[in-house]
Amino acid sequence: MTDDFFAEFGETIHQAAKEFSAKTDSFFESQKVRNKINGEQRQIDQCLKDVGNIIYKKFVDGEPMHEDVAALCEEITEHKVTIAKMRENMARKKGEKICASCGAVLPKDAQFCLRCGAECKEEPEEEVVEDPKPAPEEEENLFQEEEPETPETSEEPKEQEEDEEA
Ligand SMILES: [Zn+2]
Repeated sequence: MTDDFFAEFGETIHQAAKEFSAKTDSFFESQKVRNKINGEQRQIDQCLKDVGNIIYKKFVDGEPMHEDVAALCEEITEHKVTIAKMRENMARKKGEKICASCGAVLPKDAQFCLRCGAECKEEPEEEVVEDPKPAPEEEENLFQEEEPETPETSEEPKEQEEDEEA
């Protein structure tokens, strides 16, 4: 009797262990597939990035682009200019300057770039505007002008009453 019990009990544990290992197997299997999918996705992303770099280079070289593509390329250039301005500003504060040709950080009195050899003439100090403020002010003024044209709030309840009656 007790032997049967332990035999059955043992069988149950054995079965549970089998089921558990099947579950973990399938868990690791799907984890493996997920990793492979992520790997493929990363390669797609890298290819897309490479395509973008090739197209952007063509844009910089002056090749005609489709309107949408040109707009995106212009956006990239704007971001690059913003970065360049910020780096220049940071370098200036540290008594350094940035090579206009390759972007290397150089001592302020360097006549030539230590990395690419380009001539780096001393440029006159000039205010670098980090966040231009005139634009938001213009927007505010536009909103103020438009305000009187918007319908009065007192008209809204009337419309609701009509809706309720109908
Ligand atoms: Zn340089």
